[in-house]
Order: sequence, then C-alpha cells, then structure tokens
Amino acid sequence: MRISPDLAGRVALVTGGSRGIGAAIAVMLAEGGADVAINYRSSTAEANAVAVAVRAAGRRALTVAADVSDTMAVTRMVDLIQAGLGPVDILVNNAGIGLVRGIDDLTEDDFDRTIAVNLKSVFLCTQAVLPHMRAQGWGRIVNISSGAARGAGGVGLHYNASKAGMEGMTRGYAARLVKEGITVNAVAPSLIETDMVKAGLGSSLSRIPLGRYGTPQEVAQVVLMLVGNAYMTGQTVALSGGMSFS
Ligand code: NAP
Repeated sequence: MRISPDLAGRVALVTGGSRGIGAAIAVMLAEGGADVAINYRSSTAEANAVAVAVRAAGRRALTVAADVSDTMAVTRMVDLIQAGLGPVDILVNNAGIGLVRGIDDLTEDDFDRTIAVNLKSVFLCTQAVLPHMRAQGWGRIVNISSGAARGAGGVGLHYNASKAGMEGMTRGYAARLVKEGITVNAVAPSLIETDMVKAGLGSSLSRIPLGRYGTPQEVAQVVLMLVGNAYMTGQTVALSGGMSFS
C-alpha cells in the first residue's frame, strides 16, 4: 500500500495557496502528481513563486486571484481553472484570516469579514466544485480548520466561531457525500510558523509543549494523508505540538 497518494491526472485547487500553509500544500500536492491551481487574494508575486515550485515538480500550475468570500469571484475562479487545467478533483479550503481581537475591540465588521472569508468561502468553493466531483464519483475536500475550533486560541471568539462552523460543515458535507466517492475532512493545526502567526501571535511559543512552532510542511503531510485515504471522512485531524488532545 502506498503511503503517499498517486495524484497523477488529478487537478487540485488550494485556496490561499500563495503563502504559508497553503503554499506548502500546493507544492506537496504537485510532488504527489497533481496539477495545481493556486488561489490568492493579492500576493501575486508569492503566488507566482509557488507556481514555479509546482512546475519544478513537473506539474502544471495556474495562479488565480479571487476573493473566496465573493460568489462571483469564486464562480469565475472555478471557470478559469476548468479552462486552464481541467475540472477540480481535489479542493483544499485553506484561505483564512486571523484578526486578533478581544471582546471589547471586536467590531461587527471584523466578525462579518471573518465569517465570510473563513466559513462562507468553504460553502462557496465546495458548491462550485461539487458538480464535477459528483459526476465522476470521486473527490477529495480538505478544510483547514484550527485548534481554535475547540479551544480558546489566541485570535478571538469570531475566529473560534468560523473554525467551529467549518468543522460542522465538514461533517455535514461528509455525511451527505459518503456514498458518492467524495471524502470531506478537516485538519486543525495550532501555531504553525507563517505570516499569520508572526503578525498576531508571535509571543505564543511558550504555550507549545514541544517547544517550537509547527511547519507548513507538517500540515501539508496530513492533507496528503487525507487525500490518499478513501475510508476516512467527516474527521478532523489535529496537530498542535502537544498543546491539546482531541
Ligand atoms: P497566511 O500566511 O496569512 O496566508 C493566508 C493565505 O490566505 C494567503 O495565501 C492569502 O492570500 C489567503 N487569503 C486570505 N484572505 C483571502 C481571501 N479573501 N480570498 C482568497 N485568499 C485569501 O495564513 P496561514 O497561517 O498559512 O493560514 C492558512 C490557514 O490555516 C488559514 O485558514 C488559517 O486560519 C489556518 N490556520 C493557521 C494556523 C497557524 O498557526 N498559522 C493555525 C490554525 C489554522 P494573499 O497572500 O493574497 O493575501
């Protein structure tokens, strides 16, 4: 039995693939044999660098700027990918924002924006790629949640809500798609060394029993494991350096 999945002939879409965890997932999917669409919001140069790495792995790459919280932008993105690479077989809902706020400085706009980017986007992107997955009877969807779905975390209650909602949606889709060859799972990392952590949670190293931040590649390994497994669905796999056990 293969440990790393053979993804030759598959097309993957990684939202928020320009930086951090998404960039590592995009490259590892390419190393597994998939052609990869790299979505981003504004970091064109970074997305292009990830595309170079995907092509260096011998796979096709397409960069697509789109705000994944915007219905029209998601529709246009999925159409562009279909035209450029083919229909999406593997969706990784990774794009997210972590606005660090306390109870007193959290605004309604912060709350709405967080729910739109971190949660509504999962619904929009999933709905957009499902028709092809259902028609072919095969698909893989991996949602990048967070330890904050179950624990307090350091970002704020709006972020907790967005990621808890994502895990609920993961189970909801998984249950409804299990007979159609489509698995839907989540990965819940805590404190991975990316721009998000450096910008907002830089003082949090002391909370990690392992004594270091996780790497984007360690998250990507778990995503590849889920993409390669047909029997596992509706689950959340956590990795947190010993901070929490679920
Ligand atoms: P990051 O370094 O800040 O990168 C975020 C990515 O999301 C970038 O590619 C960004 O695009 C993209 N993005 C943000 N808003 C978007 C939008 N509206 N439309 C399209 N793309 C958008 O973040 P990260 O640390 O890698 O986090 C990735 C995911 O893991 C997030 O969902 C986050 O909540 C989750 N997570 C991270 C950690 C951690 O410790 N780092 C822990 C738990 C969960 P641009 O480059 O164009 O801005």
